Amino acid sequence: MSACPVTAVATTVEPLPVLGRDVRVPLATGGEVTYAALDYAASAPALQRVWDDVAAYAPYYGSVHRGAGYLSQLSTDLFEGCRATVAAFLGCREDDQVVFTRSTTDSLNLLASVLPAGCRVFVFETEHHAALLPWRGAEVTYLDAPRSPREAVETLERALADREPYGPGLVCVTGASNVTGELWPVRELAAAAHAHGARIVLDAAQLAPHHPVDVAEWDVDWVAFSGHKLYAPFGAGVLAGRADWLRAAEPYLAGGGASRRVARNAEGGVEVEWHDTVARHEAGSPNVIGAYAIAAACKALQEAGFDRLVERERELIARVRAGLADVPGVRVLSLFGEDAPRVGVLSFVVDGWNSSRFAAALSAEYGIGVRDGLFCAHPLVRVLLNGDRDADGECGGPDEGRSVLNAVRVSFGAGTPD
Ligand code: PLP
Repeated sequence: MSACPVTAVATTVEPLPVLGRDVRVPLATGGEVTYAALDYAASAPALQRVWDDVAAYAPYYGSVHRGAGYLSQLSTDLFEGCRATVAAFLGCREDDQVVFTRSTTDSLNLLASVLPAGCRVFVFETEHHAALLPWRGAEVTYLDAPRSPREAVETLERALADREPYGPGLVCVTGASNVTGELWPVRELAAAAHAHGARIVLDAAQLAPHHPVDVAEWDVDWVAFSGHKLYAPFGAGVLAGRADWLRAAEPYLAGGGASRRVARNAEGGVEVEWHDTVARHEAGSPNVIGAYAIAAACKALQEAGFDRLVERERELIARVRAGLADVPGVRVLSLFGEDAPRVGVLSFVVDGWNSSRFAAALSAEYGIGVRDGLFCAHPLVRVLLNGDRDADGECGGPDEGRSVLNAVRVSFGAGTPD
């Protein structure tokens, strides 16, 4: 490989301490280097602060909602308190519910399981599969990739206006693309959804780690995100938002914790009364440490101040872009145009290179960890690559005969060092 595409960075705001900053990795070419974690969009390293908070709590861990002992009571209080911390982080409305799930995928599948009868779902083809695929029981309108934020709003408005008759509707949209990093016009899409009597869920998996979220101000009905992308890799996620659809539906999982009363009935069967609180969709023993870690991350990010984090990330993006510009034949993937606002997520292809080989070389020769592939957004990557390539075709140059239907993704965030 001729040049390393990611140059050293220097920013005016300090990075937040994360685990793994000093990990040394072997190079295929001999020797070793400090690992450069540039795959935050897949999973971000734990914030040191999250790790410390979890370690401080761990000795006091006890079962929640199921024990009379002191540690169970304490853990229950702390677990329930995590909901308020997350709600504040997301700018939720007073009566919104915060449900702890396993991940964004789990959160959106939970929402899909509570859709009212006859609900029509609207989703852009550009979404991550976690947002594109869960709506199996519903009528789904798939919207073509827009080429500007304005076109996104117009496309949605047209699709909503065509909806006849006006039954329940749900729009699912990302806040920041996991492929291009581009920001989507969430407020405007929410306004369009509501103007046509539909609701909207925001997939904030890539937005929340980089940018403040304001559920009430943006007027979104639900928001979903994952702890492991928010510097809290302990296996929990969040679905937060309006309680009514959640309350009206059957529980996502059936089991203990979701049920208020269970009894045999006269027919020899079993009758169940489900909770109508947040517990309804949290059957089974919850991931207390995961929820605790998410709450710790929310506090840490808020205390660090998103203004500073966003400013720092802007500088990092500029550095990465400048470095990439020096790589011959590089093309940064974009739907909304080169200069569209984005978070610290950039995908690119390099002429003559198969992206998987390129990513493998970054690891082997420089100790840089990135992601290659289609990023669980196959339709979007096809659209992006089909601009001037045959997406299913083959590469020329050193990678003669290899598929070009993949890209390299570089992603970073609050913990990325200078
Ligand atoms: N949505 C977006 C935009 C993502 O980037 C991802 C993961 O990469 C997901 C949803 C799914 O997140 P998880 O794998 O944590 O469920």
